[in-house]
Amino acid sequence: MTTATLQRDRQLHPLHVRRATVSAVEHLGERMRRITLALEHGTPPIPWVRLAVGDHVKVAFPHPETGQLTLPTVVDDRPQLPEGAQRPVTRDYTVRATSDGDDEGEDATAAQRVSIDFVVHGTGPASTWASQASPGDTVGLLGPRGSMTEPRDARRYVCLADETAIPAIGRWLEEAPEGIPLEVVIQVPDATGIVPLPPRDGARVTWLMDEAADTLAQALQALPPAPGDYVWAAGEAGAMVQVRRTAAELGIGGEALAPSAVQVDGYWRRGVAGRDHHQPLES
Ligand SMILES: Cc1cc2nc3c(=O)[nH]c(=O)nc-3n(C[C@H](O)[C@H](O)[C@H](O)COP(=O)(O)OP(=O)(O)OC[C@H]3O[C@@H](n4cnc5c(N)ncnc54)[C@H](O)[C@@H]3O)c2cc1C
Repeated sequence: MTTATLQRDRQLHPLHVRRATVSAVEHLGERMRRITLALEHGTPPIPWVRLAVGDHVKVAFPHPETGQLTLPTVVDDRPQLPEGAQRPVTRDYTVRATSDGDDEGEDATAAQRVSIDFVVHGTGPASTWASQASPGDTVGLLGPRGSMTEPRDARRYVCLADETAIPAIGRWLEEAPEGIPLEVVIQVPDATGIVPLPPRDGARVTWLMDEAADTLAQALQALPPAPGDYVWAAGEAGAMVQVRRTAAELGIGGEALAPSAVQVDGYWRRGVAGRDHHQPLES
């Protein structure tokens, strides 16, 4: 009998708006760019919380025509733009990794570096920026406003993701407690979406290649949750509705799956630009 509590813990962080400069661009596959950003000296580092795999920042992009980057300042823990300024376009991205800077100048505070993995999917300001980014380009980073640590004590983790959640999967593979089996299913449109992942003992990773909205829900059917299992899923909102519905239908041993055993997040929605993931999944 398992005693997993499946508890998630939340920590709030004060809002910071950071200016960051591209220091490296790496092609992880045909559709993914790892962009490493050096924070401006003197800016507070981005908090790094182990197993907070969903930690994300809002990346603020320069105006596509003028190239100007307008960033808010923080007043009473809220972003405030200069009078009359146009709000920059922002999109949510997972904090894939952070590292201390290597600037060892006399009294310089080392600038923290942050890696973000961008899917280059074709349209949209974030995808377009990432496909053209090169060292020296600047963006703004807002947040993270909080960190949610995933449960440290499951019997098994079942993680379902599309390519936007591959960075979070990388964190699962690196940061999940040792000894807990990790079952990962990743849906990508085709083989060009496959990227290298960190190795981990006891993890099984399955790549599925199609764009159907029910692929991840079907994958969950083939991995029915048992008591103590924790199901985590992130990706396109319509696909996530199906995953959540399937989890509810499957239940455990004829009983409903406890809400604490399932975490589903809609990272984007097909046909919608800049969707806010705090909206209900169905909207
Ligand atoms: C918490 C969180 C973490 C995220 N982490 C990451 C991450 O680490 N890496 C990452 O790449 N994405 C991540 N995303 C998803 C990313 O924010 C969205 O994909 C975002 O919409 C991309 O912005 P855009 O400007 O490229 O496209 P938008 O302007 O938002 O959309 C333009 C068009 O492109 C479509 N579209 C958007 N994203 C995709 C896609 N991936 N594939 C196909 N079509 C798409 C939209 O439906 C729309 O029709 C995350 C989202 C959330 C909420």
